[in-house]
Amino acid sequence: MSDIYTAADLLNGGATLRALTPPARLSVFGDPVAHSKSPAFHNAALRAAGIDAQYVKIHITPEEFPAALGALPAAGFIGTNVTIPHKAAALATVDEADDYARASGAVNTVVVEGERLLGFNTDGPGFVRAIRESFLADVRDLRVMILGAGGGAGRAIAVQCAIERCERLVLVNRTVEKARELAKELAPRMHSDRLLGPAERLVAIPHETAALAAEMAHIDLVVNATSIGMKRSDPPLLPQSLLTPSLMVYDAIYSSGKTRLVEDAEQAGARAANGLSMLLHQGALSFEIWFNRPAPLDAMRAALLAA
Ligand code: NAP
Repeated sequence: MSDIYTAADLLNGGATLRALTPPARLSVFGDPVAHSKSPAFHNAALRAAGIDAQYVKIHITPEEFPAALGALPAAGFIGTNVTIPHKAAALATVDEADDYARASGAVNTVVVEGERLLGFNTDGPGFVRAIRESFLADVRDLRVMILGAGGGAGRAIAVQCAIERCERLVLVNRTVEKARELAKELAPRMHSDRLLGPAERLVAIPHETAALAAEMAHIDLVVNATSIGMKRSDPPLLPQSLLTPSLMVYDAIYSSGKTRLVEDAEQAGARAANGLSMLLHQGALSFEIWFNRPAPLDAMRAALLAA
């Protein structure tokens, strides 16, 4: 496992981080941060692109976050990624954020531009690329059901689907009020005067079998953005009877093997993929934002699979 640095390493002008070989000029801020796979594939990208910099993990608590982000210019950083629990605080701290970051309420990529900090969110765009790569399909053409729409990842995916104006959006959450709130927020983006058939274009439902069953006939892509399936002992996300061969199933859980949902979907004859591709593409998009050039995707993918 690579080293974990702290706010103190950044706040002293970054002397410790500058002294590394190659110097640390990119990072991920998180709390916890030990589990992050980002250094593995970002360092592979930096090596493949011949950039004399390294990407490190920095453990930053919520109290330390604003000062740590503000210390990036003086520490000579190009930027940073931001993960749990700092994505909303990052949006509040940056000087400027792009449209999608503002709509999703979260920033995961920060760029240092002189003394200013610019915020982006690559989770949603990374999801779109992952769906294209996994299923050769564009989100805008699909009727999408998001399970766990009230969580961080589910919200990021839902906002992106609404921005893409996907054909249909079904927001599912155990605590259904969160899905309903999100549906209200996204309604202006999903409004259409076109008649699309018997099913409403944007709905919010509870994570219950009867409600799910009533929607399944009007869905092309099912996305798992819940934490169910992270442990092998977890219950199934969906009853097997709801999985049919015409579905595409995307499990946002990143795993190098098949998750239980992916196994169940394939057994039903559906096409299925896990969240590794979303992780890869959100990282590749961060690289593109920092360096304004295409990311070395093959090197990043190989490093992610090995990590
Ligand atoms: P989160 O904010 O904690 O949200 C968890 C979601 O799961 C909530 O909607 C929650 O519903 C739901 N949930 C939890 N237990 C449940 C249960 N027993 N039954 C039904 N729903 C349940 O977590 P997150 O950060 O969004 O992460 C969610 C998943 O996405 C994780 O598996 C994570 O690994 C994955 N993820 C993948 C990527 C990627 O790049 N591939 C990126 C980010 C996250 P309530 O609102 O009712 O609590």
